[in-house]
Amino acid sequence: MDHLEQFREETRRWLLANAPPSMFTPVASTDDLCWGGRRAHYPADVQRWLDVMGDRGWTAPTWPAEYGGGGLTKAEAKVLSQEMAKLKLRAPLVGFGLTMIGPLLLQEGSEGLKRTHLPPIVRGRIRWCQGYSEPGAGSDLASLQTRAVLDGDDFIVNGQKVWTSYADKADWMFILVRTDPKARKQEGITFLLMDMETPGVTVKPIRLISGSSPFCETFLENVRVPRANIVGQVNGGWAIAKALLGHERTMIADVFKDRVSGNPLVDLARRYLTVRDARITDALLRDRITQIDMDQACLDLTLKRSQDGMKAGQKPGPEASIFKYYGTEANMRRRELMVTIAGSQALGWEGPGFDESELGLTRDWLRSRGNSIEGGTSEIQLNIIAKRVLNLPD
Ligand SMILES: Cc1cc2nc3c(=O)[nH]c(=O)nc-3n(C[C@H](O)[C@H](O)[C@H](O)COP(=O)(O)OP(=O)(O)OC[C@H]3O[C@@H](n4cnc5c(N)ncnc54)[C@H](O)[C@@H]3O)c2cc1C
Repeated sequence: MDHLEQFREETRRWLLANAPPSMFTPVASTDDLCWGGRRAHYPADVQRWLDVMGDRGWTAPTWPAEYGGGGLTKAEAKVLSQEMAKLKLRAPLVGFGLTMIGPLLLQEGSEGLKRTHLPPIVRGRIRWCQGYSEPGAGSDLASLQTRAVLDGDDFIVNGQKVWTSYADKADWMFILVRTDPKARKQEGITFLLMDMETPGVTVKPIRLISGSSPFCETFLENVRVPRANIVGQVNGGWAIAKALLGHERTMIADVFKDRVSGNPLVDLARRYLTVRDARITDALLRDRITQIDMDQACLDLTLKRSQDGMKAGQKPGPEASIFKYYGTEANMRRRELMVTIAGSQALGWEGPGFDESELGLTRDWLRSRGNSIEGGTSEIQLNIIAKRVLNLPD
């Protein structure tokens, strides 16, 4: 038996022996998965699943073992994810540590930062948030005004961030600050790592149209951040910020792919539409469902190809904008179609007359409206694709 087949057998046996039984059921939303963190308390099975997978480094299978990762080759990691998918096992851990700052530190971080920050991410002990956007700097991110001034071995940071997802739950933030206000705007920015428990950090949740409150305003008043927490160089943060956005945009497309595992569109159609001889009788809706399924299959395969490239050491480039744009637009179309299929049953907010899954349809549809904004708007992705992928003239 070749090495990979042996690895597959051992992995499957190990997963079956170590995964708590309740982890073999899918979750309705990524919010129900384990995001880790200092202050988080998860049900015993969720915690156990995180611990056993974290022990092997399999929350971050391809990260080097010296930083707590699994040290698996690209081919072995693929086998692990295939076996987990076959068993319908949940991811033991999700979050911006694994998908954004971890990959960035592996790519750009100093040895000290890697050793300090990567192992706690793998074990789910530290949860991260992203401090990029400000009230006057979203699409035009390079206009950010949060100031950091060097004072001995620390920066003193003052300013405000906005739309900081999960800032109220996160332990650390990766943050963009202006360190040279006189330089050209892209050249005066530094990328720092900041402990959210530092005095002077205040977080206020913002309530969304979907009813949940996943993101916050973050106020910073004389916050001391050690100079040692710089990723890259002082005033060299713009290149680091863009490298991270590549990881973020690929991750966003992938998140929405994971959430639709199985075929919720067909399940919904069978529940709410007329089906005759195993066919949905409404030809128009049948066509829309099939089109979305085909589009999703194409995106999945393209994403997989790109992820294989990244496991082999490639860095995400401007083409990540294609995934971000296409994945989120597809998710918005799918949410819209789900509401159409369920008809008036997808118009409930609370109270009798609607079951949990129907209330979820309404809220998920409303939440999906933010997909074309978060991680950079669809218009900005189209600009990047035009200029940097297709090389079209201005
Ligand atoms: C759900 C969600 C989660 C988020 N999480 C985070 C987070 O964790 N951390 C963080 O830092 N930020 C986060 N954001 C913020 C997000 O990155 C910004 O909202 C986004 O970059 C857009 O910035 P803005 O809201 O200031 O809009 P603006 O930049 O003011 O844009 C307004 C409109 O103008 C359009 N526009 C602007 N410039 C151009 C142009 N050059 N060409 C064409 N059209 C243009 C935009 O496409 C948009 O439609 C989140 C946002 C959402 C919705």
